[in-house]
Amino acid sequence: MNFKNNLAFAREQDENDALKEFRKQFLFPNHKGKEFIYLCGNSLGLQPKVASEVLKRQLTNWANLAVEGWFDGEEPWMFYHKELKALMAPIVGAFPAEVCPMNTLTVNLHLLMVSFYQPKGKRVKIIMEGGAFPSDQYAIESQVRFHGYQPDDVIIEVFPRAGEDTLRTEDIIAKISEHRDELALVLFGGINYYTGQWYDMKQITQAGQAAGAIVGWDLAHAAGNVPVKLHDWGVDFACWCSYKYQNSGPGGIAGIFVHEKHFNDRTLNRFAGWWGYQEDKRFKMEKGFIPEAGADGWQVSCTQVMPMALYHASLKIFENAGFLSPLRDKSIALTGYLYFIINEVNKELNAEQFRIITPENPKDRGAQLSIIAAKNGKEIFDGLVANHVLGDWREPNVIRLSPIPLYNSFEDIYLTGQTLLKVCKATL
Ligand SMILES: *Cc1c(COP(=O)(O)O)cnc(C)c1O
Repeated sequence: MNFKNNLAFAREQDENDALKEFRKQFLFPNHKGKEFIYLCGNSLGLQPKVASEVLKRQLTNWANLAVEGWFDGEEPWMFYHKELKALMAPIVGAFPAEVCPMNTLTVNLHLLMVSFYQPKGKRVKIIMEGGAFPSDQYAIESQVRFHGYQPDDVIIEVFPRAGEDTLRTEDIIAKISEHRDELALVLFGGINYYTGQWYDMKQITQAGQAAGAIVGWDLAHAAGNVPVKLHDWGVDFACWCSYKYQNSGPGGIAGIFVHEKHFNDRTLNRFAGWWGYQEDKRFKMEKGFIPEAGADGWQVSCTQVMPMALYHASLKIFENAGFLSPLRDKSIALTGYLYFIINEVNKELNAEQFRIITPENPKDRGAQLSIIAAKNGKEIFDGLVANHVLGDWREPNVIRLSPIPLYNSFEDIYLTGQTLLKVCKATL
């Protein structure tokens, strides 16, 4: 697309945007009555206006039905997660039976590693991205120790080449190949939280499995952001949180994926709980764990109705807007426009003040751009916030800005560029 750095162009794009009305379904943060331009949906998605209504409905169910709410009422809690499964499945390219809402992300990563990291003989190693989100690093290190190994001996991190910011697929695949006889698990984030790079999930999955390893993905920054096809790509397992791109609220319910090829595998370890027990016999309260078929068999505790109601409400918006297309098409255009605008700011400053480390090609990124300032990065970030543009700052030196197709506009992006220019002129 031929982008232009002016307000009329941005407004024209918004005018022609078939999704423009969806913005009205969200609540924007404001300071002293002035709304923020919100570019932080990669960290915490905005609140859908219906959120308070759906919570209230469940509070009413609880008030009126109390314990009978598990089996009575219009949406009995006992089966409440099933509707969610149907809405989650298209977000990650899965069958409903392969996904389940439960717990929170890092907890699920642990539960899935209990099943899918089973080091044996020489096959003990894990390949992951260098600079993974800290929670993933801690989870993986502690799992490794739990099995009696030292992280340094069995965790292999892949880093970008000297002078480069992101990983080359060929380097990941070479690393897999190099360790092919010792690999137990390949575990990456679908999109790296820091650089915004979207890895070639299909190729990496194939390479890992060809080397005899299990392949899992943390989709915290990918689910609800980019099209993934977990089932078709043969991914073994995945997990994600729903409060980033999927707007389910702080600490919202997370999701898991287990490929159906593992449904009948009796050799998988599990940390079991009553809610993972065969559904029709759960209340017989018998000794001896028998898992429910599919991803539901990984449940541990009873349904978390309130957070599920919030996730349900936000996924309904995705369904109405059309995930993937047209949401992904708008996302590509919107983030492409931000890419263009940042470079326009450089031009007007007559300097390479901002370097975008996120790949430019949409096949290698989602909504987020990670930007490194040559000078005064933190000061500029603070200046943006003071001027009502909310992105986020990630140590040591990255400004992350993420236009969200459900609620951001081209005008937001144009105005962000103007604000950036103003702040730079004041601070440089
Ligand atoms: C956001 C994020 C988390 C957060 O984990 P919680 O358990 O939800 O607190 C974990 N891993 C990655 C890759 C993330 O981006």
